[in-house]
Order: sequence, then structure tokens, then C-alpha cells
Amino acid sequence: MDKIKKMPIIPLRGFLIFPNMIINFDVSRKKSIKAIEKAMVDDQIIFLGVQKDVHKEKPKQDDIYEFGTLAKIKQIIKLPANNVRILVEGLNRSKIINYYEDSSFDLVEVTEKSDEEFYDNDKEALLRVAKETMEDYSNEIKTIASDTIMNIIECEEIGEMADAIASNIQLNFNQKLLLLENGNSALRLKEIIGILVNEIEISKIQKEIKSKVKAKIDKSQKEYFMKEQIKVLEESLGEDYGVQGEINQYKKKLKKIKPPKYIKQKVEKELSRLLKIPVSSAEGSVVRNYIECLLELPWGKYDEENYDLEKAIEILNEEHSGLSKVKERIIEYLAVRKLTQKGESPILCLVGPPGVGKTSIASSIAKSINRQYVRISLGGVKDESEIRGHRRTYIGSMPGRIINAYKQCQTNNPVMLLDEIDKMSSDLRGDPTAALLEVLDAEQNSSFIDHFVEVPYDLSDTLFIATANTLQTVPRPLLDRLEIIELASYTGEEKFNIAKDHLISKQIEKNGLKPKEVRFNDESIKYIINSYTKEAGVRNLERKIGDVCRKSAKLILTEGRSYININKKSVEGFLGIPIYSYDKINSKSYVGIARGLAWTSVGGDTLSIEVNIMNGSGKFELTGQLGDVMKESARAAISYIRSREEKLKVEKDFYKSKDIHIHIPEGAVPKDGPSAGITMATAMISALANIPVSNEVAMTGEITIRGRVLPIGGLKEKLLAAKRAGIKKVLVPFDNKRNVQEIEETILEGLQIVFVKGMDEVLSHALLNEEVSK
Ligand code: ADP
Repeated sequence: MDKIKKMPIIPLRGFLIFPNMIINFDVSRKKSIKAIEKAMVDDQIIFLGVQKDVHKEKPKQDDIYEFGTLAKIKQIIKLPANNVRILVEGLNRSKIINYYEDSSFDLVEVTEKSDEEFYDNDKEALLRVAKETMEDYSNEIKTIASDTIMNIIECEEIGEMADAIASNIQLNFNQKLLLLENGNSALRLKEIIGILVNEIEISKIQKEIKSKVKAKIDKSQKEYFMKEQIKVLEESLGEDYGVQGEINQYKKKLKKIKPPKYIKQKVEKELSRLLKIPVSSAEGSVVRNYIECLLELPWGKYDEENYDLEKAIEILNEEHSGLSKVKERIIEYLAVRKLTQKGESPILCLVGPPGVGKTSIASSIAKSINRQYVRISLGGVKDESEIRGHRRTYIGSMPGRIINAYKQCQTNNPVMLLDEIDKMSSDLRGDPTAALLEVLDAEQNSSFIDHFVEVPYDLSDTLFIATANTLQTVPRPLLDRLEIIELASYTGEEKFNIAKDHLISKQIEKNGLKPKEVRFNDESIKYIINSYTKEAGVRNLERKIGDVCRKSAKLILTEGRSYININKKSVEGFLGIPIYSYDKINSKSYVGIARGLAWTSVGGDTLSIEVNIMNGSGKFELTGQLGDVMKESARAAISYIRSREEKLKVEKDFYKSKDIHIHIPEGAVPKDGPSAGITMATAMISALANIPVSNEVAMTGEITIRGRVLPIGGLKEKLLAAKRAGIKKVLVPFDNKRNVQEIEETILEGLQIVFVKGMDEVLSHALLNEEVSK
């Protein structure tokens, strides 16, 4: 049973006392002094209540928390102005049961809350943890006197220790109140351990932050002092050091390169600016960059041109097989340029699939007229500033690709190749085409202004050559400035000659071999062309030949062989099993299968179109690899067939009672375009009328809904593919006659070309039945 005692109360404001805590404080309120006097006449025991609101001068019962501390007054000292200072010792946490208000002082009846006793292991464990934590705490926060710590550590009761710690560490008022109210000693100590651990962590983090901030401040101070020292050192060392030294170097270079006067002035102005800029500022690097750029440009440097056409022809022939028409056009162009000097001549543009020698022809042109060659790749350029440079307002700004090209080739009259102009695009940041037009315009390009360089630069002595894979994506205004030279895909024969005359020797040399060490026989070259490459040009062929040479080099070194013969078998050994096989002519004629011809980015291919007709409800299905244009062609073909049901001898109203399924087998390379129109119509008519299509015929042409055959592109590649597949007769739109006349004899040899104007003619050549085909 808890004891109930009656005694006077003093309300404390803003602090409280734990049991065993000895403390002195001043008392000034009259009622409190009276309470003390009363206690002193009794047994010196007083109740120290805790006032809820510190501002209340005359607290009532409701203004005091229930819990407080029973304390013994140990000493009283009278102070001036009727104040007293008392020394008290906390005895026990107690709870108010009854409160008696009176005018002189208040009395309370309280029960003492003594801690329960603990005897088991938990107590020992808890005590130890508390001791350790307290030690850590005092190590981390060094504000507690060592005597106090000793006293705390020596406590043997949980509650006692909790109160002792609570009395000596920094706690806020609420924490204190909770601890005072908590009669469970174990919980109280655990609570305190939690507070200690938390405080230790916070203190560690605080220290870390402080040390980091300090280190930062130290570092920047150090840097500042060092920079100042360097400045002083530079000043005393003289003109070859530091910024001044740098400026002197630039000045020397400026003298050496002898630029035009306005450039000289510009550089000098920038140099004096450089002197004023603090060493470490970012602006300094922009200015340096600019000065260096101006000094690196080839002011006034020109290569001596040589328009010796005989020599030019010789060089072009030496470096490239075939391409006779292309070479002829180039020589004509050079002749005109020789006569007109610079200026008005149009810009050459070499157009053709990848790997047909556009880039290498351009470099041969440079060589043949004794000029430097420099290449700018425009593929993927979509920002005007890539051509014309960034303005010098931000760090990392650079001149555009044109100016960079001059830095690279160090002459003002190079042959500059603008590679892949068809791969440029424009976006929000400006249109590169506009900038390029300015570069190519003879009227403007003598004073081309790059945003970075800022001063005019003369491009008018440069011979520009462009390349593109296709003209379809070249912007119109650019196209108008270009003189187009087309390079078509190579035939197997041409590839063979190129490999034999150029690629093999080039790769042998590149791999550090001697010409006699690797000997390709003719069959091996053809085998690589047909079974390991499928391309319009010779780029992969060159790569494959390179692979063979590299592997041969290894054998020569590791096995000590003096040379290696390359035949079909060793090609397979080096390159693995063949990758490609070309379509071959079908062994017999089938109903519903017609052979078309397609143009792809890697050359021509044949295209076997298959049609099935089934009883159904007029559904029309297209499967396989089809572009949108092909789907439209198929619909046009159906429209044509429906309008001629009777003549074509197909079942009446087939579009209501039959399902048609057209399939175009998937090839390795995507094909699209309208040129499969007549092939689809032929396959469908064959299936509907049940008449086979001749296996020896291939065709290409667009179809209209009235059965007219319209012209198509890519004829050379298509005819090559037909020939490769063993086709005998090719149906070609009549309007393509002109294109066929331009194709070399060697390609046409062995092919019967039939020009067709309408579907009737197509059918008469393709279907194996007299009646329908008439
Ligand atoms: P493109 O610029 O058309 O993509 P490249 O000029 O890069 O093609 O040619 C690829 C490779 O093929 C180069 O090594 C080039 O020398 C070679 N090549 C292409 N055509 C010929 C040719 N007619 N004669 C000799 N080598 C050729």
C-alpha cells in the first residue's frame, strides 16, 4: 500500500526535480515562501509540484500536473527583498490525491510511487547497457563531470540510475515530465538509453558536418593563397611564365603565321583581354580556345593546283576499276573548272548505294588535281550550329564542322567531301541545310561567318563534293545546287574485277603481308562475293577479304608457312559456312506463283509472290513482308481483275465467294514500293483462272486499276538479280525503255527484255495458256 501524506506544495516553473537530485533554487512567490515556512516547522518535507503554464503567478489545482516530487528541504538562505534560496533533495516521485487551496499556502495529499524491485537477470543486463551507453555518451559529449559519471555508474538500482542520468543530461521539459510520471523503472531506464543513443548519433553527425565544412573552407582558403603566391612568383620570374608567358607564346605564333590584318587585330584584342581575366575563371578557357582556333586556321595557305587532265585520268583509273561513265563525267567537270577557274561551277554530288566507291572517288579526285582531301560527315547532323559553330557565349562552344575541316587539312583550297548529305535533318535548333547552302553558294562563301570564329572566312577556293545514298531526302534547294553523278550497284563481274585489281592488294598490304604470301584463286573470290556478301557495293567484300588475309597472316606466323593458297575450301575454313544464297529459278511452272523483282538498299532481289484462292466469303488477306504501298498495289490489282472477270476467265463474282490470300515471303532486307503491282495481279489471275505462270519469266511494274503498267526505278539492280536467279525473260514497263538503253551490254546479255504497256501483254507473256493470254 502506498503511503498517503499531507504537506505544503511549492509549484515549480519550467523545471522539475528527480528523486535523489540535490538542487537549490530561489523562491519569491509569497505563497511558496509560506509553504516553506510551514514545512520547516513540521518535518521539512515539501511537495514540489510542476506548473503547467509558467506565466501563471497564482496557480490553482488545475494548473499543476498530477505528478511531482516529494523533497526534503536541507537549507534555507534568506535573500534581499524577502526572497529565499532553498536547497532541496528529491526523495520520491509522488502523485497528488487531494488539493487544499488556502489563502496563505496550499496543501496537498500525495501518494508516493516507489519503484518495484527487480531481481532477475534483466536488471543486470539493463544496468550494464545503461552504464556502457552512459560512458559512450560522456566520451562523445564531454560536458559531464567525471565525478557525476562515477556516481551514475555506481548506481545499483534501475530506477535510481534512470533518475540519476535524467538529472544530469540535457533533456527538454516534456521528456523530463514523461520520465517523472513513469513509475516503471525498467521502462524509464530503457527510455533514457534510447535518448542517450540518439544524442550520441546526433552529436557524431554534427561533428562530421562541422569537420566537412571546415575542410571545405580550409581548401578554398588554401587555393586562394596558392594562386596569389603563383601570381607573385610569376611576376618575379618574368615574361616566360604564367599568363604573360602564355600571351607571349601566342604573340610569337601570331607573328609566324602572318594572318590578315583584321585577324591580327582581333587576336591582339583577345590577348589583352586574357591578361585581365582571373587565372581560374571559366571565361579564360573560352578566350584561350578562341585564340587557339584563330591561330590554327590556315590563313593564306594554298596548295598549288594541277589541272593536268591526263594525269587526273591516270590517277582515277589507277585507283578505281570500271566506273567509266563516272570517270568521264568527273573529267568533264574538271575540264570545265579548269576553264572557268573557280566560282560558278556546280557542286558535284555522287549518289549511290553504300560501298560503291563514292568516298574513295572523291579522295582520288583530290589526289588527281594535287589538293588536300578532307571529309565532313553530315550523317545525323540536325543542328545548324554543327555546320556554323556555337556562339562564343558559353563554355564548351566550338567552331562548326566546316571551320574544323580547314584546321584539319591546313589549306584553303582543299577538296572537301560533304558525306551523306541525304542523312541531314532539321529540328528546333535550326536548319543545317540553310547553313550548308551558304557554304556552297559562290556568291556568299567568300565571306562565310562561323558563329564561333566571328570573322569572315573565305571558302571560295574549296572544291566541294557531296555524296548521298538517295536523292529523295536531299532538301530541294540543296538539290538545285548539285550536279548529280549516279553510281549504280556493281554486277558480280564488276565486284570480281574490283576485288582482283584493288581490294586484295589493299588488304594484303594492310595486314602487313607481301603480295606473294596470300594467293586468291578466281573461284574463291567469286565464292566470297556470292555466298558471303549481299550488297550493292564492295564494302563487305573488302571486309571479308580482310578477314581472310588476317587469318592467313596468323597461319604464316604460327605455322611458318611461306604462302597460303586461297580456294573455295580455305574460304570456308576462314569465314565459316556460307551466309547467303540467292533465289534460283523454280524448277517448274506453278499456278499462283509469280516472280517479281525488287530493289533494296543492298542491290536487287527477286521476289516470289504466292496466291491461294479458297472458298469463302470474299475476304482478302495479305501476309508476309509488305509495306503500305504494296497493299495498295494489291487492291489496285483486284480492282482490275474484277473489271475484267469475263475476259480473264476467272470465276464470276469471285470477290464474293472466294477468299484470296497473298503472301510475299520475308527476305533478309526490307522491300517496299509499288513495283510488285503487276506481279501480284499475275499471281492472282493465275490462281483464279488456274493457269500456271511461266517459271522463266520475272516482271516488275506498277499497276493501275485499269490495268496499265507504269514505270519503276532501280532497273539495273533488278535485272542483275533476275540474271543471277537464272530468269530468261523479264517484263519491264514500256516507259522504262530509256533506262534499259543506258544499262551496259554485259548485264543485258542472255536476258530477253520485253517492254509492256498493259496487263494484257503481261499475261500473254507470263501465263502458260494461249486462251487467257490472248
Ligand atoms: P561509299 O563512299 O560509296 O560508301 P567507299 O568509297 O567507302 O564507298 O568504298 C568502299 C571500299 O570499296 C573502298 O575501299 C573503295 O576503295 C572500294 N571501292 C569501291 N568501288 C571501287 C572501284 N570501282 N574500284 C576500286 N575500289 C573500289
